[in-house]
Amino acid sequence: MAENQVINFSPGPAKLPAEVLEQAQKELMNYNNTGVSVMELSHRSADFTKIITRTEDNLRKLLNIPDNYKVLFLQGGGTGQFSAVPLNLLSHKPDLAADYIVTGSWSAKAAQEAQKYGKIHQVVPKPSTYTEIPDSITWNLNPNASYVYYCANETIHGVEFQYIPDTGDVPLVVDMSSNILTRNVDITKFGAIFAGAQKNIGCAGVTLVIIRDDLIGHALPICPIIFDFKVQCGNNSLYNTPPTYSIYIMGLVFEWILARGGVSAMERAAITKSSAVYDLIEDSQGFYVCPLNKDCRSRMNVPVRIGAPNGDEALERKFLEEAEKNRLISLKGHRSVGGLRISLYNAVSVEETQVLVNFMKDFMARHRQ
Ligand code: PLP
Repeated sequence: MAENQVINFSPGPAKLPAEVLEQAQKELMNYNNTGVSVMELSHRSADFTKIITRTEDNLRKLLNIPDNYKVLFLQGGGTGQFSAVPLNLLSHKPDLAADYIVTGSWSAKAAQEAQKYGKIHQVVPKPSTYTEIPDSITWNLNPNASYVYYCANETIHGVEFQYIPDTGDVPLVVDMSSNILTRNVDITKFGAIFAGAQKNIGCAGVTLVIIRDDLIGHALPICPIIFDFKVQCGNNSLYNTPPTYSIYIMGLVFEWILARGGVSAMERAAITKSSAVYDLIEDSQGFYVCPLNKDCRSRMNVPVRIGAPNGDEALERKFLEEAEKNRLISLKGHRSVGGLRISLYNAVSVEETQVLVNFMKDFMARHRQ
């Protein structure tokens, strides 16, 4: 590793591909011979229109998005969508009811926000810790719900669905903020998908929404206009000034993924990287512990404790200090969970993951009692 170089395992905002940053740097002051930066381009200029159109086209290619789904580039982050989803979709049916599958902090926050607007029902009992996904046959789904909501990857707790829930005719809404473009999914199984950009697809500031067209046009009258999917759709996400630079960076990331073999290549790498970490945890005979059930372990965010079962905090601090000295950064677990969290988004390479795994082996050899 060159001097000053680090390997960034941040849960978000996360590492971007070096090639993307280099390209952005090259074009920073003079985009496409315009003499100005993308930041300085009008969002209605021909150059920006090309950027946003190409970005959408590439996303459609990467995810195989059918024509009856619209793509929106919005603001407000994942948290904005916790409000926008109920505001746009609850009145799709007369009961103003929705089912939420809560498997971690982010889906819990989404359910809490949605309660402001309708009848929200949690289909699985609240667990004392988020370490599993209760069997879908135990879910108590309401056939009259306007939608069923879940979070595909709980970034804090590391709970990731390995399958797409079957909700029959009730539209399925998913928060894919931390695993979009890391595994192949069948878009037609969803009514709506949203994702903040700052983990796998760009920098903070832009939020992707992919929505089936029959679900557009049902916003509650109190819905703020910038969150109204119909208004944004009718204006190609340009009702107001969009986060132009974040959209441009997202476009560069999509090109980077396409050039490397698309989502299938990202998925293969995600399996290789996460397996290397989980295999080490399993082989460590309790030195490293991942508290999650094996059937829902995230490929993106691996929570780890050192010293079973609740972690030896002094040893975990030592791990983080030593890791940082070895230029392996941002490995601290979320404050609500403690321990470590290893985030393995698309921009983290297999080789970089191996550097971390080797460090973990070495740390274990030196500190095992
Ligand atoms: N959903 C998930 C899965 C997340 O990981 C996050 C943030 O990390 C959010 C929602 C909230 O996103 P934002 O901070 O962009 O509002």
